[in-house]
Amino acid sequence: MKIVDMRGKLPVHPQKRYQERPLNSIYYIAIHHSLTDNIPGGSDVEAFARYHVETNDWPGIGYHYVIDADGTVYKCNSATTKSYHVGKHNRFSLGVCLVGDFSNYPPTDIQYQATKELIQQLINAYGVTVDNVLGHSEFEGYKWKKCPCINMDKLRRDLT
Ligand SMILES: [Zn+2]
Repeated sequence: MKIVDMRGKLPVHPQKRYQERPLNSIYYIAIHHSLTDNIPGGSDVEAFARYHVETNDWPGIGYHYVIDADGTVYKCNSATTKSYHVGKHNRFSLGVCLVGDFSNYPPTDIQYQATKELIQQLINAYGVTVDNVLGHSEFEGYKWKKCPCINMDKLRRDLT
């Protein structure tokens, strides 16, 4: 698994900054899809950051990790950064976004492999349980959300 550290290299809000949190407040890993088609060469991360800052008026990109269709993992925020991606659950969650619109097609094999590897690493690093690896729509208050449109039961099974 190839991880590219994008921290400090992405567009951020001119004034706003995310709050920090202690590592022991992390209990969940939230899985998202980007609802956008893959832009070759990893420009997706840049585009998401710009959208989150300019359109959403957020301090910076919302996700902690973005996984490209080619399997590259982009680290976008430190785990201690309380960024925005799952509302009132942000405080306790790491956000992982897979590039793609999985209501139309599935993740690529290499992307799915990288997702499993990354999640396994995060589970080991932060003591998150497999049961707490949740799709966005599995969080309380987000049943209506069509995100991430991947079979989360299968993903959790594939992790064990
Ligand atoms: Zn989502």
